[in-house]
Amino acid sequence: MPFAPIPSPTIPTSDGEHFPVRRIYCVGRNYRAHAIEMGGDPDREPPFFFLKPADAIVAGDSTIVYPPRTQDFQHEIELVVAIGKGGRDIPVTSALDHVYGYAVGLDMTRRDLQAVARKAGRPWDMGKGFDQSAPCGPLSPVSQVGHIATGTISLAVNGSIRQSSDLSLMIWSVAEVIADLSRYGTLVAGDLIYTGTPEGVGAVQPGDVLTGKIDGLQSLTVTIAG
Ligand code: MN
Repeated sequence: MPFAPIPSPTIPTSDGEHFPVRRIYCVGRNYRAHAIEMGGDPDREPPFFFLKPADAIVAGDSTIVYPPRTQDFQHEIELVVAIGKGGRDIPVTSALDHVYGYAVGLDMTRRDLQAVARKAGRPWDMGKGFDQSAPCGPLSPVSQVGHIATGTISLAVNGSIRQSSDLSLMIWSVAEVIADLSRYGTLVAGDLIYTGTPEGVGAVQPGDVLTGKIDGLQSLTVTIAG
């Protein structure tokens, strides 16, 4: 080997463990009001997915860089689902058995690059899957907090609320997302699913402090380097 294999990124859990990250799946447009603000069809279409590299994870409260080649760096607050037991063709009725825990996450987005790609029918990767694009708070195991299906999800920038909604407004539930994703390929322990953002996405600037909260979970604070 020309160099040592790069270890998996990990996320600390609220009970002192370290959860190794395998893949980061993300759901697009999973709240009706956000689908509308993105110019999409608000009707219930099947969920769609994209990926970020595992090492886009930034675990816990942290400072991230303002990334290159964008003038429109945006926040998307999301419920993150951590898969603890793999499977494929998972039925909706048993899908939650595959969940290890939940966290507050940010799907940071270079919106201008995503918009150009979308208009041209090109991949979103450079708008979505870049370095430090997936901040994630501590994981709360289901054994401690149960399953998270309702409750406020919010994001404040410098103390002002920018996004505020309720998890019950997700178009596709966590169980439905897991079931559908597992029909595209085999889910494996360590996979994360960012389950989509509610309305109110917007730009951040160097020096901004982002605070993400979901009822029942540990909050996440991310600073954009000045
Ligand atoms: Mn998103």
